[in-house]
Amino acid sequence: MDRIWAPWRIQYILGDKRDENGECIFCAKPRSADLRKELVLLKRDKCYVCMNLYPYNAGHLMVCPYQHAHCITELDAETNADVMAAAQLMLPVLRSVMNCQGFNIGYNIGKAAGAGIEEHLHLHIIPRWVGDSNILPVLSDTRVISEHIEETWERLRRGLAEHGIEDSPNRA
Ligand SMILES: [Zn+2]
Repeated sequence: MDRIWAPWRIQYILGDKRDENGECIFCAKPRSADLRKELVLLKRDKCYVCMNLYPYNAGHLMVCPYQHAHCITELDAETNADVMAAAQLMLPVLRSVMNCQGFNIGYNIGKAAGAGIEEHLHLHIIPRWVGDSNILPVLSDTRVISEHIEETWERLRRGLAEHGIEDSPNRA
């Protein structure tokens, strides 16, 4: 695969993995009162979907189990299935909202594999367009990117509603 050049990601790699209360950010995110600020898109029974503030590409999502786990081997079958089910739901939404042509989907498990926050597992969903690895450096200004991300969050929330996808009542 062509590598996407995403220089702003260095802030993420070097940045805090803990919030102001010392809590793991992936544990804290879904409990926030401000889901827009946390870029949380969807809450399911065993996992939630949020946007990556330091994306590899526009519309870069993460599916995070609520369970604070390092590796998929620690997840029970139900949680693994819920993460995949969440990914299945998000692809049509990304296709219709972002008009993307492909996806890279995967886990980075351990620092050696490029995990930015290795203590809490998250499945990356990265939308791809033909030739995108060549055009992205144009958007390397972080401020511009975060504006784009909030706009995209709004569009994806509308996309979820249009696809009839709702938060789990157990997690609302
Ligand atoms: Zn955690």
